[in-house]
Amino acid sequence: MSISEHIKKYHEILPDSVILVAVSKTKPVSDLQEAYDAGQRDFGENKIQEMTEKQEQLPQDIKWHMIGHVQTNKVKYMAPYVSLIHAVDRLKLVKEINRQAENNNRTINILLQVKIAQEETKFGMPLDQAENFLQNNTIANYPNVRLKGLMGMASFTENKEQIAEEFRSIKKLYDRFYTKYEFDTLSTGMSGDYSIAIKHGSTMVRIGSAIFGSR
Ligand SMILES: *Cc1c(COP(=O)(O)O)cnc(C)c1O
Repeated sequence: MSISEHIKKYHEILPDSVILVAVSKTKPVSDLQEAYDAGQRDFGENKIQEMTEKQEQLPQDIKWHMIGHVQTNKVKYMAPYVSLIHAVDRLKLVKEINRQAENNNRTINILLQVKIAQEETKFGMPLDQAENFLQNNTIANYPNVRLKGLMGMASFTENKEQIAEEFRSIKKLYDRFYTKYEFDTLSTGMSGDYSIAIKHGSTMVRIGSAIFGSR
């Protein structure tokens, strides 16, 4: 299947309540253009420089999602245009996003990345720390940052029950603070586990290799 056929397939099978972020990291702009022409508007990248180069070359109505780990000193490059920063996992980064948003006279949407996987390698705030962070309303001190919800990555495993349990844990946290923050985005699910994520409340899936092929 071609890129455009994959895009059309996902637009058809995903529930209306779920936004598809097409993860285009490492792929050439021609691949993104093909997806765009098939109706895709949300794209996810994990490197700020690569995202910025693509943003300059592609249609301006694309919504750019930074899904990778963000170095504080690079926030300024995406601050003028980024639509949603998924992997915010520390206060220092919130402060810098707020500062750069202010410099650009805008509000920047973010998600708090919560560590739900049992693996050691994944980024994200541990669940108990995330709970404190949300409870303490720390984010209220940063008016140019808008917290839209949570993001999580499940373990890379064949064990579907484990994946489901990890998605349940982030959904529980999401529900607990849903009203307080007027959350509308739970970013969970990738090529291999998006259907489990949707069963557990995902409103945004990040799908790369199943659309654009392996990297
Ligand atoms: C690369 C990446 C994805 C997409 O992964 P696929 O398995 O290719 O769908 C999703 N989320 C994050 C954070 C990623 O880095």
